[in-house]
Amino acid sequence: MSSNANLKHSTSVSSLASMEKGNTDDITLSSLYARRTPLGTGLGTTGSTNHRTQPVNERGDTHRHDADKVDQNILDEERRLRNQPKAKRKRRKNMITANLNGTRYDVIRQMAEHIGYSVTREDDPTAFLIWNDAFVSTERISDLKPYQRINHFPGMGEVTRKDNLARNMMKMAKAVPEEYNFVPRTWILPSDFNIVQNYMKDLRAHKKSKTFIVKPSNGAQGHGISIHRNLDKLPTNEHFIVQEYVEKPLLLDGYKFDLRIYVLVTSCDPLRIFLFNDGLVRMSTEKYLPPSENNVNHLFMHLTNYSVNKHNEFYEKGASLDAGSKRSIKSFNEYLRRNDYDVPLLWRNISDMIVKTMIVAEPYVLHSYRMCRPGAPPASDSVCFEVLGFDVLIDRKLRPWLLEINRSPSFGTDEKIDFDIKSALIEDTIRLLNIKMNDKKKNMNAQKLEAQKRLFRPTKRVSETADMSEYDKKRLGLERRKEELKELLQRVKKAGTREDYENRNRGRFIRIFPTDDKARQDSYVKLLEAAYTTFMSGRAPSMHKEIQLMYNNKLKESDILDMLAECDNDELQGRMANVGGKPQTRGPKPLMSMPSSEAIHTPGEEDEDGEMSESLSPPGSPYRHHLALRGSRPGSVNSRVSNRMGSVMSRPNSGANMQGPGGRPISNTGGVIGDRARQAGNQKLTNIQRSNVDDSFLTNVIREREDELTRRTLYALNDMRIKFPGKSDQEADTILDKLYENWKFHKPRIASYWLVKLDSIKRRKVIDIVRSNVRAVLQRTWRVPDVDNLPIYRVFSRVFNRLLWSHGQGLWNCFAASGNCSSWETIFSKSSDAIDETELNCCRRIVQLCKDCLLIVYQFAAEAKTASQGGPGDREKEQITTQRSETKPALVPPNTQTMSQRYSKLYARTETLS
Ligand code: ADP
Repeated sequence: MSSNANLKHSTSVSSLASMEKGNTDDITLSSLYARRTPLGTGLGTTGSTNHRTQPVNERGDTHRHDADKVDQNILDEERRLRNQPKAKRKRRKNMITANLNGTRYDVIRQMAEHIGYSVTREDDPTAFLIWNDAFVSTERISDLKPYQRINHFPGMGEVTRKDNLARNMMKMAKAVPEEYNFVPRTWILPSDFNIVQNYMKDLRAHKKSKTFIVKPSNGAQGHGISIHRNLDKLPTNEHFIVQEYVEKPLLLDGYKFDLRIYVLVTSCDPLRIFLFNDGLVRMSTEKYLPPSENNVNHLFMHLTNYSVNKHNEFYEKGASLDAGSKRSIKSFNEYLRRNDYDVPLLWRNISDMIVKTMIVAEPYVLHSYRMCRPGAPPASDSVCFEVLGFDVLIDRKLRPWLLEINRSPSFGTDEKIDFDIKSALIEDTIRLLNIKMNDKKKNMNAQKLEAQKRLFRPTKRVSETADMSEYDKKRLGLERRKEELKELLQRVKKAGTREDYENRNRGRFIRIFPTDDKARQDSYVKLLEAAYTTFMSGRAPSMHKEIQLMYNNKLKESDILDMLAECDNDELQGRMANVGGKPQTRGPKPLMSMPSSEAIHTPGEEDEDGEMSESLSPPGSPYRHHLALRGSRPGSVNSRVSNRMGSVMSRPNSGANMQGPGGRPISNTGGVIGDRARQAGNQKLTNIQRSNVDDSFLTNVIREREDELTRRTLYALNDMRIKFPGKSDQEADTILDKLYENWKFHKPRIASYWLVKLDSIKRRKVIDIVRSNVRAVLQRTWRVPDVDNLPIYRVFSRVFNRLLWSHGQGLWNCFAASGNCSSWETIFSKSSDAIDETELNCCRRIVQLCKDCLLIVYQFAAEAKTASQGGPGDREKEQITTQRSETKPALVPPNTQTMSQRYSKLYARTETLS
């Protein structure tokens, strides 16, 4: 290795340029700086580099080809700008802004300017692009406008802290061991102290010895790392991880090395991951020997960090990409090819490892992201992106091992190779973000439109829709169906446009998730489902559906257009009446995340369920009859209802809903059979197949116990009232009655308050008042500390999610109930869901409480405004709470627990994932 003392710092343009003389790459450095000079960087214009640059138009679009021609254009443009100072000023004003005050890396500023962005001097929170080296708070992400982009995701710490990565990988490895075996075995101390000791004892008993590496949990740059042949002297109270040491790494010229691989995540909703097609090979500076007592302290031999090895006198700054202590991954691939290694296989494995790791992070990241951006419409542009640095060790069998992930990889450019690779990485990253000047304006217009749409969306009162003829109801259903299809069409179109853009502007990035390899994609989707089951069991069922829709949706634009045309046809021919309110569509059902139109099913759905329910039951099974009673074959309706729970239906009006939404029958006992019933049936069948009478008896006892608890939950919910601060329950009831009586008068005001004045976070908070009280009821009644795993809570969660749909529009829609069942009830009319009548009544009560809560918050705000000319703050809203009527406690004292405290507790609870 030869040293190069002349190279001081890569940002020194002339030194870089002079080193690059004779390089034949497409664009010269002079064009890059010629481009930057008129924008005020003051840098020189001499020299050339192999650094890849693309000329840019105002929108930041690239024209990568015809580079020479464009070079000339840039020079012309520069001349023109110099002669036209006014035009230059205008251009500056209309430039995309980048706030880079949070980063210390000059190369980011250089690339932003090179692309044509204007870097703000101040810490401008409204800049289009914000780049921060440090962690970004969730509040900051919440505050971003949709046109902005920031370089961190919330929740990513679950894989970027060493102990979190180890913990999550271990959990996932338990669920799918054959897929998660690329992290060396790791223990987290102090909690795993005894496990480590026992493991060491075992090794000794089998006369084996291993080497371990000990790292601080939140360490970086090799700080505090030590290597051990035995672990007898581990401190007991410090936070670090112990990891099996990979003893036989692949060597380059006799030196150990690791790879710094760059990964860009542009979105988590849906997940999109790109792998940068280059990176760094970081070599140690002392020839490698297998670890022994004599050499474990030789950090220049065992550690590959640049920050460690640069202190060794033998560290070699390379003059080229394939020599010295830091090399390019491209040159490494060349080396492998020359030595007959299977390079494509290695990169397939590395890419697979990266996607699997991001799948582990996804439940946390998506959850945190949605908490930060509650109102963001599905498939909208992500305000977050992240460039991650994966540290990967390759062993002698060419197997990649994941050592760690850096969420702020160094963009220092101490050497030319750093500048070459990192500048290209940053440039390609910024281009892929597709930030456009008119995004800001478009976003403001879209927001206005959306608010108006919500305000004036026709909503019908219960009585109004009840008065509707069957024909009108079905026409309404059809209209909603069309709306959903149009929305879906927009999504599919948007996905197409995004993919097009990515393909044209990905530079050196390769998209690794989602992938076009169908078999792989399917296996990733399964892993995503497994990740939700592992890390968020409570959310898993609903997320599984969403995952299928997000990543396995095969609908093309033409399919949706066909479906829309069929809706039009149905409308024209008045066919709705003949198909039971269900337009006959060929394609799959609409997105689950959208509220489904009432009275809409895919033909054949019920048959399938019905068949399931019977085929599940072996002949002679005591459950055969039971399941049939709960089944919902067309025609198998109320007559087949069991009487077991009949007496429970004590709520007024609750008996009116014997016919489920969309004509699906809901039996007194079982309701619409679906997943839960099927699972229950399956579970029960397993028991029966064991032909154990005791088992079936036990199952019955458990079932009855559950039914009893559900009944008690209903009683408790019926007892709950929304408390109006300073007023008795009776007064609160009167207020509610008056609001309902004068609905025509209040409706536009309440709509404007709910849909326009309150932002989506406040709307969520209002619904959360009810949600937290419902959770408390469940905790009391079911005597479980964690209600998330209760099947009944999952049912309730679906209702809350429905109410939260489209920034709380879901709750507003509930004021427009139609006929026997409200629109939200259709979430249970799908074949895959089953709830019994008591559960349904609980849900109805919850919806009622949420409606009351909205009205009381509105009334309270109106009164407060009159009194003090101001709306209710969080604190005031906190005073509105649900209470059990018989206890009638006094108002919650203002200081006990503010709404935001409660909200943050709720947030913290959901953050602490199992
Ligand atoms: P840091 O964040 O402090 O850099 P790393 O986990 O990246 O910590 O470890 C630093 C270096 O130690 C790595 O670059 C690698 O050379 C070496 N190393 C880390 N873990 C192992 C391991 N399990 N086996 C072999 N070498 C390892």
